[in-house]
Amino acid sequence: NESSPILSGAIKRRTSRSVIIAHGDRQVIVGGDAPIVIQSMTNTDTVDAIGTAIQIKELARAGSELVRITVNTQEAAAAVASIREQLDRMGVDVPLVGDFHYNGHTLLKEFPDCAQALSKYRINPGNVGQGAKRDSQFAQMIEIAARYNKPVRIGVNWGSLDQGLLARIMDENAQRNSPWSAQSVMYEALIVSALENAQRAEQVGLAGDKIILSCKVSGVQDLIAVYRELARRCDYPLHLGLTEAGMGSKGIVASTAALSVLLQEGIGDTIRISLTPEPGGDRCKEVIVGQEILQTMGLRKFTPMVIACPGCGRTTSTVFQELADDIQTYLREQMPVWKTQFAGVEAMNVAVMGCIVNGPGESKHANIGISLPGTGESPAAPVFVDGVKTVTLRGENIAKEFQQIVLTYVQS
Ligand code: SF4
Repeated sequence: NESSPILSGAIKRRTSRSVIIAHGDRQVIVGGDAPIVIQSMTNTDTVDAIGTAIQIKELARAGSELVRITVNTQEAAAAVASIREQLDRMGVDVPLVGDFHYNGHTLLKEFPDCAQALSKYRINPGNVGQGAKRDSQFAQMIEIAARYNKPVRIGVNWGSLDQGLLARIMDENAQRNSPWSAQSVMYEALIVSALENAQRAEQVGLAGDKIILSCKVSGVQDLIAVYRELARRCDYPLHLGLTEAGMGSKGIVASTAALSVLLQEGIGDTIRISLTPEPGGDRCKEVIVGQEILQTMGLRKFTPMVIACPGCGRTTSTVFQELADDIQTYLREQMPVWKTQFAGVEAMNVAVMGCIVNGPGESKHANIGISLPGTGESPAAPVFVDGVKTVTLRGENIAKEFQQIVLTYVQS
């Protein structure tokens, strides 16, 4: 049997342990064979328990499967249990992750309600303290995590790398006959920080299947290099994210470029897209971008995909762009209900095309497709359902009628 010269493109996931992050009956599994988990982080003041609970609810509704909140002060720690209660009252069971820096050991000790309400802790080993204090403060946090059976992400970030460890790795490098480049030393320090702290956490008593690692940097090539090596050296599940990715299209493109290379290599068990929100922008955008990365790569399915042509001189009106946008928004808004009622609806494709050049062909390949009239074409929009032309829409109400056809298809 000769094998095809065309590669299948199938992604083989790296083998990793699975970590359960639970709240009540809800369990989110990160690692192992579990689907890659989407997570996000609030940008509200955690002290504002109502505002934070509302944003968590919005992020969860958009599809965030874990939501991280900053726990930076005593007032914030005091608010965490109340945030959790409000979410439970609203029926929002998304597990919450507490983000700790500098004073986490004190907050977790002084606010046991906070320590218990959170489903996972994120500890940045570069922001735990210095010297002997560092080890003891790190151990105190890990002991509390072990006591309450909470998983921990050891989240290294090169903006806050443990300076003592960096100095040690630099000293070791100076002893080499052929010293590594400064960049390699930095990569090594990030990776060693994650791995040594994971080892320390296990020595303190946290089970190995309660640890997730991340090593976030802000450069695409740096992220790829660091994660490839980190993935090679351990089997802890990995949280991927390009830190400080930036605003708008730059942030989206940089995150997509970095993450898609790693995901294609099977690296990554949970992702967070860190986008700087536009003024007044929607925080849920980072969840949608994360979903779109995973769905376009064929790794998960979240919402029906709209295939739309880019438009060109053959389309002189904006009707088809508006229709594509309307239908994508409509599908996204329906999904929280649809996914509980119609199995497999997220795998559906809808094509919205600008004219007859590619319109009918692309429409036939989708579950439902519409080809709008381009310049000079007769003012008619043929609709294809499962490859068969079923109706031709005309007039002012094309968008509404098409939406109804999509709804009928989903319900059938
Ligand atoms: Fe242009 Fe028609 Fe192609 Fe759309 S389908 S890009 S309108 S030629």
